[in-house]
Amino acid sequence: MPELPEVETYARDLARRLPGLTFTGARIGWPNQLPKNDPLEFGLRLAGQRVLGVDRRGKLLRIRLEHDWLLIHLKMSGSLTLVAAETTPDRHAHAVLEAGERELRFRDPRKFGRLYLVADDSEVIGKLGPEPWDESITPETFAAALGRRSARLKPLLLDQTFLAGLGNIYVDESLWAAELHPLTQASRVTALQAARLLAAIRQILETAIAAGGATLSRSGFRRLDGSAGAMFAQVQVFRRTGEACPRCAKPIERIVVGQRSTHICPGCQRRL
Ligand SMILES: [Zn+2]
Repeated sequence: MPELPEVETYARDLARRLPGLTFTGARIGWPNQLPKNDPLEFGLRLAGQRVLGVDRRGKLLRIRLEHDWLLIHLKMSGSLTLVAAETTPDRHAHAVLEAGERELRFRDPRKFGRLYLVADDSEVIGKLGPEPWDESITPETFAAALGRRSARLKPLLLDQTFLAGLGNIYVDESLWAAELHPLTQASRVTALQAARLLAAIRQILETAIAAGGATLSRSGFRRLDGSAGAMFAQVQVFRRTGEACPRCAKPIERIVVGQRSTHICPGCQRRL
């Protein structure tokens, strides 16, 4: 499932290729992918708008147009390609955004992904928490924020209103790096542990962005040009059940936290 580093990879790749292009229309095969637009209105409104820039907020890709924002949430299985219009159609690309001789195709076999064309992007991203590198987050403010919450660490870190961008992979990796158990109550985390957790989150996300994201399976995330992201090779615990912990050599275990598959080292992640 694409998380912050995978979406950031798309944002950086698209920022080099989309600005200056003008959308000419859209083909929408699955109207539920447009929670805020009618499919016909979406294409008409998109047509004629030039792309001014591309960036990311949380797990949403954000495309700045002349009059609107186009936001794309990849959710479970979404991926993007930018191809010549004559490229063989992809039956899983239910949303195709046309830009003259090129097409931005949103491939999404499970159809959970969403596109939004809105005048004000806060309609979609308004409730998101801060980015992990937001200046307002220091080791002290992060420790204080955890101290106010009774939630368990993993569900809290997955909560996009608390912190934007993390998903299953990078929460498991960050908690392992900080030697914290996913079921530990946030308010029990010490100031030192909070500082370690914040540093781990930032460092792991930076590593993952530098690696171009994580491709977990053949059908998983692919970069714009179809290549795989290189982060999975650097993952320490996620989907490594039974393998030796790189720190203490105990076998990594899989547990379930809030219906999410979770990977921990029982040796160095003790529950507080
Ligand atoms: Zn260990």
